Formats: sequence, C-alpha cells, structure tokens
Amino acid sequence: MEGGNPVAPPGARTAADVVTPALVARLTRGLTGSGTTVSHTPLTGRKLADLPESGPEDVAAAFGRARQAQRAWAAVPVRERAAVLLRFHDLVLARQSEVLDLIQVETGKARLHAHEEVQAVAVAARHYGRKAPAYLRPRGHTGVVPTLTKVTELRQPRGVVGQISPWNYPFELSVGDALPALVAGNTVVTKPDTETALTALWARELLIEAGLPAPVWQMVLGEGPVVGPAVVAHADYVSFTGSTRTGREVAEGAAARLVGCSLELGGKNAMLVLHDADVEKAAAGAVRGCFSSAGQLCISIERLYVHESVADAFVERFVARTRAMRLGTGLAYGADMGSLVSGRQLETVTRHVEEAVAKGATVLTGGRPRPDIGPLFYEPTVLEGVEAPMAVCAEETFGPVVSVYRFRDEDEAVALANATPYGLNASVWTRDGRRGRALAARLRAGTVNVNEAYAAAYGSAQSPMGGMGDSGLGRRHGSEGILKYTESQTVAQQRVMPLAPSFGMTDEKYAEFMTRSLRALKALRLR
Ligand code: NAD
Repeated sequence: MEGGNPVAPPGARTAADVVTPALVARLTRGLTGSGTTVSHTPLTGRKLADLPESGPEDVAAAFGRARQAQRAWAAVPVRERAAVLLRFHDLVLARQSEVLDLIQVETGKARLHAHEEVQAVAVAARHYGRKAPAYLRPRGHTGVVPTLTKVTELRQPRGVVGQISPWNYPFELSVGDALPALVAGNTVVTKPDTETALTALWARELLIEAGLPAPVWQMVLGEGPVVGPAVVAHADYVSFTGSTRTGREVAEGAAARLVGCSLELGGKNAMLVLHDADVEKAAAGAVRGCFSSAGQLCISIERLYVHESVADAFVERFVARTRAMRLGTGLAYGADMGSLVSGRQLETVTRHVEEAVAKGATVLTGGRPRPDIGPLFYEPTVLEGVEAPMAVCAEETFGPVVSVYRFRDEDEAVALANATPYGLNASVWTRDGRRGRALAARLRAGTVNVNEAYAAAYGSAQSPMGGMGDSGLGRRHGSEGILKYTESQTVAQQRVMPLAPSFGMTDEKYAEFMTRSLRALKALRLR
C-alpha cells in the first residue's frame, strides 16, 4: 500500500488556507443560534470552524421565514424557477475548485471523489432545470363523462420541505436533493451534518448568486438528535438521507404528523462477477466500487461474488490494484483514496476487520489503520473467508472493506446477493450485456449497474434512484424525485349537464341513461 502524501508537497495548501475566519463569517451570516458547535477536518483532526448551533426556537423561526416566502416563490413561473437551476449548473462548474477544497477538508476524501459530487450536482441541476416544466405541467384526463367533464391534474408544492442530510456526500446530498424541491415551488429548510455544514452553506450561497431568493432556502445546524426531530416537527414533507436506524425514527415522526417522507438509507451492496466477465475491467471497477470516498458511500460495494472459474484471476488483479492505491491528504488530484470522516467510522471499520480475522477470515490486503498519513486513515482492505456470524458479513461497514466470496452458478449468486434486508445498489460484470440485464432484473436492489459499480445508474438523473427493503422509501432523480415534493390536485369541471337527473328526467330514466352511456363509452373504447 502506497502511503505518504503523494500530492501535498511542502508549502501546499492546507485546511487553514481553505477555511479562513472570513469565509466562515461570510457563510454563516444571518444564521441564528443559541449555542456554538465546532467542526473539525478529518485530514488532521484540527478544528475547522465555530458554527452557530440552532435550538428548537431557531428551527421554528427558520420554518417561519421559509413559510412566509413560499407563496411568492410558488407564484414565480416554473420556467423562471428552472432558470435558476440552469445558471447554478454553470456557476458550479466554473467555481468547482472552491467547493472541491471545502468537500476535501470537511470529509477528508480524495479530490477525484469530491469531483463526483460536482458532477452529480451539475447533472441534477441541468436535468431539473430543463425538465421541471414538463414534469410539473398540468395534465388533462378523461372525465367521468368525456367532453362534458373536463379534468385537469395539477401539481401543487407541498409547502416547506424539511431536509436532513449526512456528511458523506455533503454537496450532492444537500443541494443536489434540494433542487427538485425548490423548482417544484417549495421552500426548504436543510439540516446538514455539522461536520460538513460549510459545504452546504457554500452551496446555498452559490444558489442565491444564481438567482434564488435567500429566504427560500434556510439552513439550521446542530446535533442530529435535537435539531433533526425539530425539523421533522415543522416540515410539510421530510427528505432524509442517512442511516437506516435514524431513518426509522424520522419515518415515525413524519407518520405521527401525517406528512410524507422519503428515506435514502444504508446498504450492503453486492457485485457479481460472472464467468464471462472481463476480469481486468471488473477488477478496476471493483476498486472504484469499493473504495470511492473510502467506502463511505451508500451505494459502494461491500460484498463481491465471483464465479469460481474466474475467481483466482480476478482476486489476483483486484488485490494488486488495491495494493497499488495511493493514500493521501493533499488538496489536489493524485491520491486514490482519502481519509475516513470520524473516529466513529474508524472504530466500526477496525472492529469489523478485527472481529472477522479473529473468527477466521483472511486479509488479502490492507487491514490496518494508517495514522502515519492522517489520524483517521485506514487501508483499503480485501477479506476472504468471511462467514455469517461475522459482523462484516451482513452489517453495513461504510468503510474501505470488501469481502470476496465464490459462487458456482448464477442462481446461487442471485440468492446470495439477495440474502440481505437491504436493497440499495448492485453491480453485475459480464461480456454479455443481455445476460447482465436479465440477471439485474432478478436482484432486489433499487439500482443495478452492468459493467460499472454505481456511477452509471446514479449519474443517469432521468432514472429513479433509491432503496428497496431496509434501504429506504421513495426515490430521488427522474419524475419520482420531483413529484414526491408535490401533491396532486384534481380539478374537474362539469359542463352542460350535471351528474344527476336533469332536464325533467325521473331517477329511473337517469339510471337508464347512465347505463346506456356506460355501454356506449365501452363500445367507443372511451372507457
Ligand atoms: P445518520 O443517520 O447518523 O445521520 C444522518 C443525518 O441525520 C445527520 O444530519 C444527523 O445529524 C441526522 N440525525 C441524527 N439523529 C437524528 C434524529 N434522531 N432525528 C433526525 N435526524 C437525525 O447517518 P450518517 O452516519 O451521518 O450517514 C451514513 C449513513 O447514511 C449510512 O448508513 C449510509 O448508507 C447512509 N446514506 C444513504 C444514502 C442513500 O442515498 N441511500 C446516501 C448517503 C448516505
């Protein structure tokens, strides 16, 4: 494993150069708080910023401001709201180096992995900027009596959306997910994770520069178990991304208030390497799939099932590629993997690996923390011989650890891949695209990538992304990703004659008339 710091020569920029007191003052201007919370950079463990901590009354005030702004924002023509997103797309690409620095110092991830967030946000901004007017347009439907009953389905914004987001993709999972809610005419109150709040605040500042009225997107900061439930208590709809455990609590809070919610939760994602896979490409894909953002990616691969006929060749190449990865802390391209985000993550990763080894698993490469690089670094790790009682077998590690298993036939592979309560993402590698797509349909996962690990499905913003089973409720992206932020409203106008006996008809004549009408509608295929 290459260590050291391949991209941080002496004199290179550090977190202190990126997060200056002036930047913190600018980004937190206008945020109220009854206390102070502190964020740190995982790259060195040093303090990054003092941030205002919202109390319940600050959350209530943020919702009040958002509610006050909502009617005027919904009255802005949808094309003008969409134009904000299109301008934002251009600004994100032009100013990407600023947010790449912030993402890196707040999460510790490699710059290439931070750039995935820039790409995802740009794709979402462009997609909803162009397509929102079509997704939201009023739709005509056949009425109860065609032509006499004119029916239109409208899409009304829900009001104020409460958004709770995690630390692992702080740019994409704050602004990327807020864009469809905003363009649908909602205002939004976001609670980002405190450790990555500056990235979210920077995104808000840039969206305002693109033309979003400032009150339309509010931010509240603070402890999840305090501020999170306060957000759920005020929201007209809740958009949550985080762990399955917290997701259940959020769902209970939303259910008690009879407001809807979408939950993007955890996963234990499987990759299947079939007998006819190109093992070199599959090995390179597995490195991307398992170790992007140091495995702290909900759709990353933690279980690798390989057909026995190609297992030796695949494992040799995969382990060699993993061993050659360069770990680094530099605020520039060049490192293949960065840091874990917190002591909690490092503890889980260490515990999963140590327990597996103690119970008989083999470390093919990695398996050690690397404090010589940074306090929270851990080597990309490949395990073999993992079995059911080991935590790493079934629980989400959310770190750079993958277990390799061998299978004999595709039925066995499908059964193994599906043997989890989660159902977020999966990956299939084969030279036969048709075989790969057919197998994909048998996997219980919200997204399946053929000959890619996760980026093909995630980056295709017109298509829904989300989890089955314990991986969540609802979807982001595509029509579902915007229509969830609306309520359908049916407006039916009755013309010429009422839906009741009229023109002097008796009840009996009216019943006969309606019976004839229903038969005629059937004959004319109008119903
Ligand atoms: P987490 O559930 O601990 O925290 C997520 C967010 O919820 C944070 O902002 C946190 O402050 C807040 N929170 C904490 N307690 C809360 C409560 N009681 N009520 C309301 N909000 C509360 O998750 P995490 O450790 O920050 O994130 C990692 C998890 O997120 C992993 O399980 C990962 O798979 C999942 N994730 C899923 C997706 C997806 O799209 N499916 C994307 C990214 C991360």
